[in-house]
Parts: sequence; C-alpha cells; structure tokens
Amino acid sequence: EIILGIETSCDETAVAIVKGGKEVVANVVASQIESHKRFGGVVPEIASRHHVEQMTLILKEALKEADLSMDDIDGIAVTEGPGLVGALLIGVNTAKALAFAHQKPLIGTHHIAGHIYANQLITDLTYPLLALVVSGGHTELVYMEAEGEFKVIGETRDDAAGEAYDKVARTLQLPYPGGPHIDRLAQEGEESIDLPRAWLEKGSYDFSFSGLKSAVINTVHNAKQRNVELKPEDLAASFQASVVEVLVTKTLRAAEEYGVNQVLLAGGVAANSGLRNALKEAFDGSGTELVIPPLHYCTDNAAMIAAAGTIAYRKGKRSSLQLNANPGLELGI
Ligand code: ATP
Ligand code: MG
Ligand code: FE
Repeated sequence: EIILGIETSCDETAVAIVKGGKEVVANVVASQIESHKRFGGVVPEIASRHHVEQMTLILKEALKEADLSMDDIDGIAVTEGPGLVGALLIGVNTAKALAFAHQKPLIGTHHIAGHIYANQLITDLTYPLLALVVSGGHTELVYMEAEGEFKVIGETRDDAAGEAYDKVARTLQLPYPGGPHIDRLAQEGEESIDLPRAWLEKGSYDFSFSGLKSAVINTVHNAKQRNVELKPEDLAASFQASVVEVLVTKTLRAAEEYGVNQVLLAGGVAANSGLRNALKEAFDGSGTELVIPPLHYCTDNAAMIAAAGTIAYRKGKRSSLQLNANPGLELGI
C-alpha cells in the first residue's frame, strides 16, 4: 500500500509518501525556524500562516518527487494531535479535502506514534520493544508489547527534555532552537559544574527537568553577581551530562525489567550526540538491539506519520470527514 503522510503539528510543513510502511519515495519538509528565531520560540499564529502558504507547494513537490498522482495513493495519514491546534488544523483540513476530493481513506495519526514508527523506516521492529521518546514537547518511555500497542511507563512531570535544552540555551543567549547549540558547546566543555540528577522515587520511570533547568539558571545568575567567569561550554557539558545520565540509566533499567528485544530512540532530542553515544555504550553487548534513526527522521517529518499511518491503515482504522485537530490526543493507533 502507498500512504501519503501530512504533518503540521508545530513549525514544519511536511508531506511524504511511503510504500509498504517502509520505503520512503518522497519526503519533503519545509522548516519555519528562520521565521520564529527572532521571537525565541514558535509563534503559533505565524506557524499556521506558513503552513497555509506552504501546503499546496509541498504536496505537489512530494507527488513529483515520488512520480505519482493522487490516483496511486491508497490512504492519507495526517497528524491529528498533539501539537498547536491552529497548526494541526491546516494539515487536518488539507487531508480531509484530499480524502473527499479523491475518495481516499483518511487516517488520523498520533504525532508521537509517528516519532516512534520513524524507526520502522530504517529497520524491522521486533516486539516487545521499548521506545525512548525525547522531543520538544515529550519525554516518555513507551513499552510496546505488539504492533500498535503503546504503554507509557514513564513520562516527564514538568519540562520535556527538548524544552529544557531550549530554555538553558536561552539562558546562555544561544539562538532558537537551542538543543543543537548546547550539544555542540557540550562537546568542547568539561563536566566541571555540579548539577542535580532527578531520579525521583525508587523504581520510577518518570522524568523531571525543571529542577535541573533552575539549577543552571541559578548558576549563571550567581556567577554574574559574584563576577566570576563561567565557561558556557562547561555549563553545557555539565547540563548535558545530567540529562543524558538520567535518560540512559532509566532506559537501561526499563529495558532489563521488561525484557525487550529492541530499544528505539525517537524525537528531536534523539539528534543529541551525547545521548546517542551514551546509549550506544550502555547497550553495547547487552543483547538488546538499539535502534537510532538518522537525524532527518528524528526531527519532525511526514514519512514517520505515513509509517505509523500504514500500521493503522492495515489494522482497518478509517477516520471520518468529521476528523478534528486534537491537541490532547492520547497515544495510540
Ligand atoms: P513534540 O514532538 O513533542 O510535539 P516537537 O515536534 O516540537 O515536539 P521535535 O521536532 O521532535 O519536537 O524536536 C525538537 C526539539 O529537539 C527542540 O527542543 C530542539 O532543541 C531539540 N533538539 C534538536 N537537536 C538537538 C540536539 N542535537 N541536542 C539536543 N536537543 C536537540
Ligand atoms: Mg519542530
Ligand atoms: Fe515532534
């Protein structure tokens, strides 16, 4: 089957076409980062307007890239939620219009199911598996007993990992989005600043990053007040060490407890070099296969939506033309 995916949950307008849930024949992403940079974050109104301007162009480009017409498409998968409601609506309404005009099945898809199923584009998934989802809005450990079955065994109680990265970057006066900048700085610095690790209760797979974020902000302010020099690269390295240690330790423990075959990394923060390296080291020789997607499948894209949409399509899921954007959508297929 050939599924067309549409993604507009945040600041990327994306359309992709995927064959058999694995073969990406088109993957077009228009990022709006340049437009949001001067505001230090995504401005919802601007995001929606850009999605409207870009959508038909991106759609045409994807069909051209795949050398296909709408007649060849078996189903249209679209991100239904979570995300910015005004941004989601552009994708949802485009998908509904296409489904109606071309009489194709419509498949509402969960954005995080998409991030997880991005891994299916690079390898065969073998269950049971564990996914570590680390993105701008989510930090979750998801246990999957079988295809399409999601059990969130741990999640953040405050900030998401990416959010913490972006806020720390802002404190260090780095441009938005700050994650990649902190990552680069961290590689040049030393872990010389003592920062907390939020382990929470014994046995908990939940996360918390707001205490760490506050500790970084306090460290910067104290240094300023006392006029002592603080190396931003050391702060970045120390911050990254705390985030990575907690993420990797909890992922390793969950993988052992649940006896999984595979551990998947998903979401924009999966691009983080410190996290990728530490996970590789932790799972090396463990008997559990670690799957890390290439960067262009970690950040928002529509190929991942088409991949997750294909699973839903095979399970017989069909959304009605009443489909609405749902910012609070629960993880599922
Ligand atoms: P969600 O998927 O939860 O709705 P989102 O789609 O906005 O959120 P993604 O696009 O998956 O999030 O990821 C964006 C986040 O990834 C940003 O916070 C960004 O700073 C972070 N990020 C990207 N590259 C890196 C990196 N190398 N190190 C750390 N963080 C990174
Ligand atoms: Mg984004
Ligand atoms: Fe995302």
